[in-house]
Amino acid sequence: MNCNQIIIPLSIHNQMVEHGISTLPYEACGLLAGNQTNVQSIWQFKNECKSDRRFFVSKYNVERTLNRINEEKQDVLAIYHSHPFTAPIPSTLDMINHPDTDIKMIIISFKRGSPTVRWYRIRDTNYEECLFRIESSR
Ligand SMILES: [Zn+2]
Repeated sequence: MNCNQIIIPLSIHNQMVEHGISTLPYEACGLLAGNQTNVQSIWQFKNECKSDRRFFVSKYNVERTLNRINEEKQDVLAIYHSHPFTAPIPSTLDMINHPDTDIKMIIISFKRGSPTVRWYRIRDTNYEECLFRIESSR
């Protein structure tokens, strides 16, 4: 049960946080892809139902994005979403909807004004926080 430490470039980390800010007061959601523990790309989803509690992306748009990630020869490493008003803790619904233990869950919380970013490993309805490292130069 180890959480391999993820390395995320600062530029991608910032794009993810900015995506969260730009969709406030609604939730933002997207994918991070790359190889093994190195994040190499970010894929932002549009929330197709505007809500601060729920996120919906059509199957078509998810599959189209997954195909493009595949074409880049990358794997999905994490799914991120924002919590505009609540703490950066996975909800039961978040965990039930999470597709895969190998894919990390990232939550960007704006509860305290400035964004808090947490990475989790989800197993059934349990979560474990993961370390991540932001790398400023690549
Ligand atoms: Zn959530």
